Amino acid sequence: MSTVGILGGGQLARMLVLAGTPLGLRFKVLDPSADACAGHVAPLLQGAYDDLAILDELGAGVDAATFDFENVPADAARHLAAATQVLPNPGALGAAQDRLAEKSLFRELGIPVPAFEDVATREGLDAAIGKVGLPCILKTRRLGYDGKGQFRIRDASEAEAAWEALGAQAGTVGLILEAFVPFERELSVVAVRGRDGEFRTWPLTWNWHVDGVLSASLAPAPAVAPALARDAFAHARRLAEALDYVGVFALELFCRGDQLLANEMAPRVHNSGHWTIEGAQASQFENHLRAVLGLPLGATDAIGHACMLNWIGDMPDPRPVLGEPGGHWHDYGKQSGPGRKVGHATVRADDAGTLAAALERIGRALGREAQVAPVLEALRLAASPG
Ligand code: AMP
Repeated sequence: MSTVGILGGGQLARMLVLAGTPLGLRFKVLDPSADACAGHVAPLLQGAYDDLAILDELGAGVDAATFDFENVPADAARHLAAATQVLPNPGALGAAQDRLAEKSLFRELGIPVPAFEDVATREGLDAAIGKVGLPCILKTRRLGYDGKGQFRIRDASEAEAAWEALGAQAGTVGLILEAFVPFERELSVVAVRGRDGEFRTWPLTWNWHVDGVLSASLAPAPAVAPALARDAFAHARRLAEALDYVGVFALELFCRGDQLLANEMAPRVHNSGHWTIEGAQASQFENHLRAVLGLPLGATDAIGHACMLNWIGDMPDPRPVLGEPGGHWHDYGKQSGPGRKVGHATVRADDAGTLAAALERIGRALGREAQVAPVLEALRLAASPG
């Protein structure tokens, strides 16, 4: 029986534990918070990620260690790596922690990216705007996620406000200016690479964000040209091989016509892959564990069509979802709070029409018509000829 250590005890760790339990795996989870929700399903060590003694405790007696979030200090990952195999490797984690390093790597690998510039000073911001063009987005290089640490600049007069909001962080986490991409849709590749280099991807997922936070995902993404999917998978594969990556990761892409631009990589299981729990042969969580432990990978084919709806802030009434034949409920057991991801639902169906009908009923019953509306529109696109 193998034991896996997980740095970070949020919902991703919780779903890893839930996926690994039927495989006979044991877990140890480290999180700074005593009520981290993975602690409801696995032994929890409470402590700071840079507390070397607690890292030693996590590393003792585990067969491998992994992460449920990417902002683990690189030194902590390296310290743990002295005690046990840490996968994905700390170098891959480091590459994904800095938006500037990440985008530079994408570019080096021939993965198209929006124009970007490093920004260190107020004057530097004006110069970067000159190069990148308007509109653009100023972002923190490190520690930003879910749209946090971002400021959209529509015209030059907003540069001052952007600097007021984020300038203080130029000397700490660093800043990057990116061209704003008028994308038609956001797609993600969720992929897994095994210890032996075997590489698999789930079908492309179409994602919708509200205020920078994922709101809904639909998979397989309808109306994707085969050449576009091939490009997206090839980008993900090149990235995984360059980083000698082991485990699951997501590559977020902006899509416009037949053009793809990479936004970022998440070096972990990803919110846009939650649908795989019920919607694919093997879920991202199970395959991540299989990869980390050097076990054969499971098939990544979709079973029909699936839509994931994120619950942000507080949990809605579960009954409209549970009342649907393909409805599945995930309550992370977290305290409600503004902007917090507290749970999700996945609705699965054999065909797009049945999925759309179920989503329409759920949206109406929960008063969340706006959340399901773009998914319904995408499903209509799938159904329309041509
Ligand atoms: P991020 O934290 O970089 O994943 O950004 C969160 C969300 O903000 C993305 O999923 C997009 O919806 C939006 N966003 C971020 N960067 C850009 C960009 N360069 N152009 C357009 N939208 C963006």
